Amino acid sequence: MPLPSAHLPAPPAVTSDWALFLDVDGTLLDFADAPGDVVVQPGLVDVLAVLHGRLDGALALVSGRRLAQLDELFAPLHLPAAGLHGLERRDDGHESLHARPVALDAVLAAARSLAAKFPGARVEDKGVALALHWRGSPAAEEPLHEFATSALIDLPGYHLQPGNHVVELRPDGAHKGEAVLELMTHAPFHGRRPVFVGDDLTDEAAFKAVGSHGGFGILVGARQPSAARYALHDPAAVRDWLEEGLSLA
Ligand SMILES: [Mg+2]
Repeated sequence: MPLPSAHLPAPPAVTSDWALFLDVDGTLLDFADAPGDVVVQPGLVDVLAVLHGRLDGALALVSGRRLAQLDELFAPLHLPAAGLHGLERRDDGHESLHARPVALDAVLAAARSLAAKFPGARVEDKGVALALHWRGSPAAEEPLHEFATSALIDLPGYHLQPGNHVVELRPDGAHKGEAVLELMTHAPFHGRRPVFVGDDLTDEAAFKAVGSHGGFGILVGARQPSAARYALHDPAAVRDWLEEGLSLA
């Protein structure tokens, strides 16, 4: 049996009338020191492929990663997905990517030359978003933050998203709740009971979205408060639970 979490009961098994939305890092995959070092456990791709079929295609990945990265991780699958918290979407093979503003190129170049002054600081080009990391260089925090704040002037419709030793310049209106609701408006998700599984604060919007549409959230871990109704202990418990669902869905 998958281990439940301390505060919430373990979820029921997957059934064939669900629309299943899965966060990736910290939910399907264990965290690694660097996002590029995550390991996809043997067998997980097969489990997702079979579940995707049992749910008539209503299984989607909803992640902060880019679609291209998700495809790389879960190759050869091209699952329905929302990447970059919903800025990138794909369902039924059709992809919609948020347009990258021209001004972002100049901001990226300026960010790189600033980061170059702080060994260990890093600029990550996420296509429509830009992440400034200072985990390797605490002294870079203030200058990178100041830079990001001033860069907003050149990027209308963007906001700052602070994170763990990182600040991201990101287009407005991207959150996982919105991404799930959008996917729910059409086939194969429409009319099914939406269930979202996630571990992070950014997943709370999605828990609320599925809760308001007859479904529920499943929290990975024990973070409280949470809008999730059920919980699983860790990604290994999520993988066990999905595998168990195969026989029932
Ligand atoms: Mg996560």
